[in-house]
Amino acid sequence: MELAKEYAREFYNSTLWKKCKSSYIKSVQGLCERCERPGYIVHHKKGLTPNNIKDPDITLNHNNLEYLCLDCHNAEHDFNREKRSATKKGYRFNDKGELVPST
Ligand SMILES: [Zn+2]
Repeated sequence: MELAKEYAREFYNSTLWKKCKSSYIKSVQGLCERCERPGYIVHHKKGLTPNNIKDPDITLNHNNLEYLCLDCHNAEHDFNREKRSATKKGYRFNDKGELVPST
């Protein structure tokens, strides 16, 4: 499980969310919606914030959910972070879009 942010902890522990999540997982036959491997986590397409955490149209709406495997979930959340860390480790993209040492 991903670490829930403080404001979302109560929500993620709620019976309503657990019921919503398991009925959603059943509705997609337990498979990742992107690659059809066994799923891992129910992702909120519109991310939860302190402003919408009490809004069931966001938090408990099946239309706002997507069931993902670990890889697809990480790709969703880490895409921008990975792009940054690739350059952090001493690499950069040259003008052909290739990753090259930044020395
Ligand atoms: Zn997947």
